[in-house]
Amino acid sequence: MQKSKQENKTNIKKLIIILIIALLIILLIIGIKNLLAKDNKIELIQMSPQSQSQMMGYLIKTKQGKVIAIDGGTVADTENFIKNVNDLGGKIDIWFITHPHKDHAGVLNSVIEQNIDLNIEKIYYTANDLSWYLEYDPERAYEAENFYKTINNSKIKDKVEEVALNQIINIDNVSFEIIGVKNPEITVNPFNNSSMVIKLKVNEKQVLFLADTGAESGKKLLETQGDKLKSDIVQMAHHGQAGVTEEVYKKINPKICLWPTPDWLWDNDPGTGYNTGPYKTIETRNWMETLNVKQNIIAKDGDINLEI
Ligand SMILES: [Zn+2]
Repeated sequence: MQKSKQENKTNIKKLIIILIIALLIILLIIGIKNLLAKDNKIELIQMSPQSQSQMMGYLIKTKQGKVIAIDGGTVADTENFIKNVNDLGGKIDIWFITHPHKDHAGVLNSVIEQNIDLNIEKIYYTANDLSWYLEYDPERAYEAENFYKTINNSKIKDKVEEVALNQIINIDNVSFEIIGVKNPEITVNPFNNSSMVIKLKVNEKQVLFLADTGAESGKKLLETQGDKLKSDIVQMAHHGQAGVTEEVYKKINPKICLWPTPDWLWDNDPGTGYNTGPYKTIETRNWMETLNVKQNIIAKDGDINLEI
């Protein structure tokens, strides 16, 4: 009896030692993993509007120094865009243009038109034929015309490539999966519903760029990409209002929202007071509150740098 009690005690001691060793090993693995992730962190910059216009512009810098741009903004945002690119080393390795609207493609247009000295390695885009824009959105078709003029310019022509649906573009430790491209069958809100949708993956984090995706192409995304939409960080569709529906955001279930949104649009205030304008921003903000989003990063607050 006495002996077995002692045996039990010894066994318990052994068990405790094994548990402590196991715990130390687990902590060591977590530590090494965190250290590696920290070493590979990317910088994500959301640029702020330099005029009263809404706009969208993002820059990403990998740990190894590669620079990726997503849109850029209007012509008025060109100087700030160039300044940011120069701060990151002065070269763009990949430039995604989500759709030809001038508040997205305007900076690229002006870089080419004004012959601004900028080292661009590759441009990826999605767009319908010019005749399609002329048919379904004749008033704004000139924006597609300007964009086509830009990408057909002899200076960059050879660097331009149209993306394919589900194409994956890897650069350093970052991957960009194209989960949405032009949708010629959707002829309402034609430019926006043919936005490129990009899923960025880095360090087990996922960032979804919805560009100006509208309700109709958002529905198509839900039906065709489903679980792929789930992301830690989301760029709010169409500057945070009248973009995709609440169902799409529910599926994404983000923790952080990136808002390419100027102050008047954030408050839906065209100069007549809070929420007195025609925009749906407050409604979208309420959806995000219901989804328990932890952080809203808003372009109205200036250029913002995020580590991921
Ligand atoms: Zn647009």
